[in-house]
Amino acid sequence: MTAQTAAATPTAPGASPPVAPAAARPSLAGMTRSELAAALEAADVPAREVKMRTAQLFQWIYFHGATDFSAMLNIAKALRARLAELYTLDRPKIAAEQLSADGTRKWLIRMEPTGPLDKGAEIECVYIPESDRGTLCVSSQVGCTLNCTFCHTGTQKLVRNLTHREIVAQLLVARDRLGDFPGRARPDDGGLVPSGEGVRAVSNIVFMGMGEPLYNFDEVRDAIAIMSDGDGLSLSKRRITVSTSGVVPEIERLGAECGTMLAISLHATNDRLRDELVPLNKKYPIDVLLQACRDYPGASNARRITFEYVMLKGVNDTPAEARALVRLLKGIPAKINLIPFNPWPGTKYECSDWATIERFSDIVFDAGYASPVRTPRGRDILAACGQLKSETEKLRARARLMLEQQLALGAD
Ligand code: SAH
Ligand code: SF4
Repeated sequence: MTAQTAAATPTAPGASPPVAPAAARPSLAGMTRSELAAALEAADVPAREVKMRTAQLFQWIYFHGATDFSAMLNIAKALRARLAELYTLDRPKIAAEQLSADGTRKWLIRMEPTGPLDKGAEIECVYIPESDRGTLCVSSQVGCTLNCTFCHTGTQKLVRNLTHREIVAQLLVARDRLGDFPGRARPDDGGLVPSGEGVRAVSNIVFMGMGEPLYNFDEVRDAIAIMSDGDGLSLSKRRITVSTSGVVPEIERLGAECGTMLAISLHATNDRLRDELVPLNKKYPIDVLLQACRDYPGASNARRITFEYVMLKGVNDTPAEARALVRLLKGIPAKINLIPFNPWPGTKYECSDWATIERFSDIVFDAGYASPVRTPRGRDILAACGQLKSETEKLRARARLMLEQQLALGAD
């Protein structure tokens, strides 16, 4: 770990220890408890104190959202200074923000470069406020190796896994921006962000941004452990949903090791069509996938599995397919989410007509599934999964201007 290298730097007696440039000081924001413990050991904290100091640090970082060691008043001044020499509490920066008329916010977040040739990967994160909740849609990878034909993320060349720190950082960035740590003010946006005593701006997390979370299992699992830790960010696992295109072997692990809610990107009711839309289906076909759902630990009527179904005009949107969908899901505690397709430049697909979506939705509704159509949010800012980044690249200059204007207005 870089921290150990930094801690080992010899210091002349009496001289103030060298402060590494910020870039060389690792950030503690996003670290697990064991990483924080290692960081404290590297800062020469006596072994007998490490556990207690780790708990303090964890609470400062994740419960209070501390961005400065000087705020950590129950930690001795000398140790605070030592920590500040070795580490930062920096988060990745918001490179661009777009705010939709409905309050949906889309952020382009630039991660720290991983090496000299890396300019810093950019990922998207979307915040969707509703009256009783606020949902943050996080990314698990830069790009995606799976080429679902209707999804723009799959066409992006650069692919790498995000680390758990980078995944957790998305929540920290959102909470910073939304004034969602104790004692911070909500942005001045006319009340679009839920507020009030004890009301959280971010109450739910969905892994529905860029990437396939189950192809980055270990990092996603560690990020979920931090996000759901009751001493810090404290999000209930029932309010964290991991969406997968169907990586069957990891579905059981997700239930056993993370205990979150599960969403399946189904999109078709027969293998021929699903092979085309979601090529991973060739490896894990529908019957195998649905068996993994039946076996998902903890699934019950109170904890239903969400099945996502993107509405593609003339492709998968007939009444017969709606009936087939209902038949397929029989016996599985399920919710159905019909997603109006969000077109992107160059796609061969179109969104189904509204009347077609309604007819499809009526069949699903009559079979007992409540409000199955996901209301498109943030359409004015193209805030749909999979297509945000390239659009954002084009809109970046404009978005940056917007962000600057908002900051100048003192929005945060
Ligand atoms: N890789 C995971 C999670 C990210 S995608 C998965 O596939 O489940 C999140 C959801 O957005 C998936 O259901 C995906 O199929 C859907 N999606 C992707 N591109 C879309 C588009 N252009 N319009 C509507 N939904 C889309
Ligand atoms: Fe990847 Fe999901 Fe897009 Fe498919 S839908 S390409 S799995 S992000």
